[in-house]
Amino acid sequence: MKKKEIDPETANEIKKELAELRAQLESQKKLKKKAAKPKAEKPKKKAAKPKAEKPKKKAAKPKAEKPKKKTKAEINAAKKAAKAAKEKEEAEAKAAKEAAERTPEDDLEEQFSDEQIRNFQIEKMDMDKLTNKVCEIIADFEDKGMLQSDLWKKLKLNSRDGSRLALRLERRGLISREKILQKGRWTYKLIIEQAPIKLESLVNSPCLTCPVEQKCDFENSYPEPSPLHCQLIEDWVAVDFSKKKK
Ligand code: SF4
Repeated sequence: MKKKEIDPETANEIKKELAELRAQLESQKKLKKKAAKPKAEKPKKKAAKPKAEKPKKKAAKPKAEKPKKKTKAEINAAKKAAKAAKEKEEAEAKAAKEAAERTPEDDLEEQFSDEQIRNFQIEKMDMDKLTNKVCEIIADFEDKGMLQSDLWKKLKLNSRDGSRLALRLERRGLISREKILQKGRWTYKLIIEQAPIKLESLVNSPCLTCPVEQKCDFENSYPEPSPLHCQLIEDWVAVDFSKKKK
């Protein structure tokens, strides 16, 4: 094949165009490179610190009102009211204490007169015999006394009759009653005041064989026979007393 010849003008034009194309390509390459480079991000500015709030000023304290001075009459009235309240409180406490300490015997003492109490009778009972028996039992406990409930059990008496009997004996001066708290309840302890005379204690009495016993009297004055100035009685009591001591 025969090589086609290009005239120099056309060749120059082609060269120029080629040079322009190259220049364009070069510039495009540069642009692409630039575009590919990531822009270094500028560091963000630090968030601005929140401004510290200034403490609010304290609210001004309300001025305390000065208490008004009380008048003399007001002071006296307040004292009177306080005294009355205290008295009421004490009276209520006393009433509550009395109610808590109240016993069936207290009710009986309120219901009956002194004479009625002294003459209380228990149905179908020989009161003299019962009195002696009760005194003998209580006397065995001497000054320590015994619980009235124990006595009622021993005598098989109900508490109402027992209470009436104890009151009768107390009013006659034979026993005394002492209020005590027993297992959370108020009751009485019975203590002998006058021990009954036991028959055994009279066995050796000189009076039983005394020839002047008929004339003997407390009212007699010496030399008339009287227990108040009787040597026989004095000797007998002294012997009996020394025996008991042993
Ligand atoms: S007190 Fe004396 S005098 Fe009188 S009866 Fe007795 S022992 Fe006899």
